[in-house]
Amino acid sequence: MQGWLLRFVLAYDSPAMIKIAKYSTFAIALVMLGLLRPGFAADSDTPVKTDTAKVIDLTYTFDASTIYWPTEKGFVHQFEKNGDTPEHYFYSSANYAAPEHGGTHTDAPRHFSRDGMTLDQVPLADCIGPAAVIDFSARAARDRDAMLTVDDIKTYEAAYGPIPDGAIVVARSGWGKYYPDKKRYMGTDKPAIDTASMDPGNSKDFPVHRLWLGANKPGFENVANADKLPAKGATIFCIPMKIGNGTGGPTRIFAVLP
Ligand SMILES: [Zn+2]
Repeated sequence: MQGWLLRFVLAYDSPAMIKIAKYSTFAIALVMLGLLRPGFAADSDTPVKTDTAKVIDLTYTFDASTIYWPTEKGFVHQFEKNGDTPEHYFYSSANYAAPEHGGTHTDAPRHFSRDGMTLDQVPLADCIGPAAVIDFSARAARDRDAMLTVDDIKTYEAAYGPIPDGAIVVARSGWGKYYPDKKRYMGTDKPAIDTASMDPGNSKDFPVHRLWLGANKPGFENVANADKLPAKGATIFCIPMKIGNGTGGPTRIFAVLP
């Protein structure tokens, strides 16, 4: 059932999907919920050990270069204190502000679903899973509107076996290499909002966001370093900031290689 949903989502081929592909796919990771969860069971005597050499950071740094929708303000970070105190010790602290949707981030179901979970309600179990990395970068290099298709999934499963339930599917477009070059990464010479407004029906539609988030599943966008992931075998952790009433938010995403 969940597998069917995934296929349906990724098979949704329409101009509206193309808009989404143009503005936000780059690398979209979709959580496929299911019965199986990654096994982190450790008996109480054996702490979980992680070989840090096997950890890959899939997150872009949040700073002035972080890509947001053109209608949004960028990431703001301002030092409140940054230097020696009268008591002669160093002290530094700052304030930050940012739109929820930009850079490496999570889409909470509430983003497109009135009754969907807010970011603080998304269970961590939905944010951790075995990676299925489906590459369509060859096509995306020729066509910036390319998107993941059912055939890509079939080809993947023929090569690597069925996508496990609970997998985090990473649609790898190869566009990460352009980040943070807004012009190339966003795939248009025009401000994105102008391109979107050229077809208001499409720009309002967002069928994938609505279907996926409407099924109360989170999505993850602007995944960095997807080229460093193997097709299968890694475990992905997408850990969003726990924002009350959040429709999305900055997320540290990383993978642990097998
Ligand atoms: Zn978003």
